Amino acid sequence: MLETEKIVLPSGIECEIQELTAEAERVLTNKADVKSGQWINKFIAKALVKINGKAAPQNQGELVNMLLDMKTGDRNYLLLRIRMQSYGDEMIFNYECPKCHKTSGYKLNLREMLDNGELKIYPYREDVPIVIETRDGIAEIDYTTGRSEQWLASLKEIDTIHLAIAACKSFNGKAPEYKDFCKLKTRDISKIRMAYSQLKGGLDPQIELNCYECDNSYKIMLQQVPDFFTPLTTLDNIGL
Ligand SMILES: [Zn+2]
Repeated sequence: MLETEKIVLPSGIECEIQELTAEAERVLTNKADVKSGQWINKFIAKALVKINGKAAPQNQGELVNMLLDMKTGDRNYLLLRIRMQSYGDEMIFNYECPKCHKTSGYKLNLREMLDNGELKIYPYREDVPIVIETRDGIAEIDYTTGRSEQWLASLKEIDTIHLAIAACKSFNGKAPEYKDFCKLKTRDISKIRMAYSQLKGGLDPQIELNCYECDNSYKIMLQQVPDFFTPLTTLDNIGL
């Protein structure tokens, strides 16, 4: 039997997750899925047993749709708990400093970081969407979901306009379009960005690392660490 665990996501959704099997790691090696950003949904789908007391849909498409509608901060939290359940609380890894390009070794305890607030969980605000008036119309800003994550993952290069679009639920009542946003005044784009930056909700997956070689500190996302999903690094090869 696979072990299961009940968890509550930051928005209040109750989930039951089960330990991953080797099949889940296969999802991570599918290049097309990694490129399209689809892998993250397939990965979560492998672990999810129940949502709000009901069995997760057997139909993969239906389940993935449900996950795409989930808020990013909930998805980040879900991913973290799946990781902790299947691979444990400790994360041991090497990471290359973006400044001096030397590698340092790290050993983190994810549960302790959740408990002591190094990994932050923000409550969701109720007063969304935030309505922003621009010269060209009304923009509604809301929490991003798996859909906007996937859209961003599918782009070759992401600029600040893409980020503003991802944060917009609608523009003049319709899905926001790049060509419309290009015409917005920079002051309006910056209003949208400001509104979005105040919309913190769910798990913020940023962690701060300190380089042992040059003392530079920098922030990365948990998911950027390959050992988050496939722990291969051991204490012997990080030099701690
Ligand atoms: Zn460094």
